[in-house]
Amino acid sequence: MTEIRTQHNDAAEQIAKRKLEDYLQRYPTLERWSLVDVVIDSGVKISHSHPVLTLVPHENEWRLVADFIHEQIHWFEAQNQQETAWAISILQAMFPDAPVSYPVGAGDSTHLHLIVCLLELLALEAVHNEMVEEFINSYEHYTWIYGTVLQNRDVIEAVLRFCYPQLGR
Ligand SMILES: [Zn+2]
Repeated sequence: MTEIRTQHNDAAEQIAKRKLEDYLQRYPTLERWSLVDVVIDSGVKISHSHPVLTLVPHENEWRLVADFIHEQIHWFEAQNQQETAWAISILQAMFPDAPVSYPVGAGDSTHLHLIVCLLELLALEAVHNEMVEEFINSYEHYTWIYGTVLQNRDVIEAVLRFCYPQLGR
């Protein structure tokens, strides 16, 4: 079970911790992505996965849970490096002209983020079964990546299920 800690234990962090714990309890499907412990830190501007999974205490609870899923998926990739390298090589062949620059792309991790963002989309849909596309379209970062995932979801999902048998059918 993922442990959720707070960095300063201020009000924003406490509220976010409660919301996230509530989500994890309400949606057992998220257990799938609860790989590492989490720190909620009001001192950071951007959530990140390594070395410690650290989340911005977003007031928007969809944003909070989306960041949680996204950063946990980075750990899934780190724990499955061979499968990830394989999936990236296929995605590079499929999308050779993927943009690099932020916020459209993600630097040298644009193709890696096609994996993260597709799995994030599927996980969000398992929790909120409507409005997920609109929510994702509201993101201001990685816009090419999320757009590509939304437009090519079936084929990217097929690549991932092929490369990562542990995802199931
Ligand atoms: Zn990421």
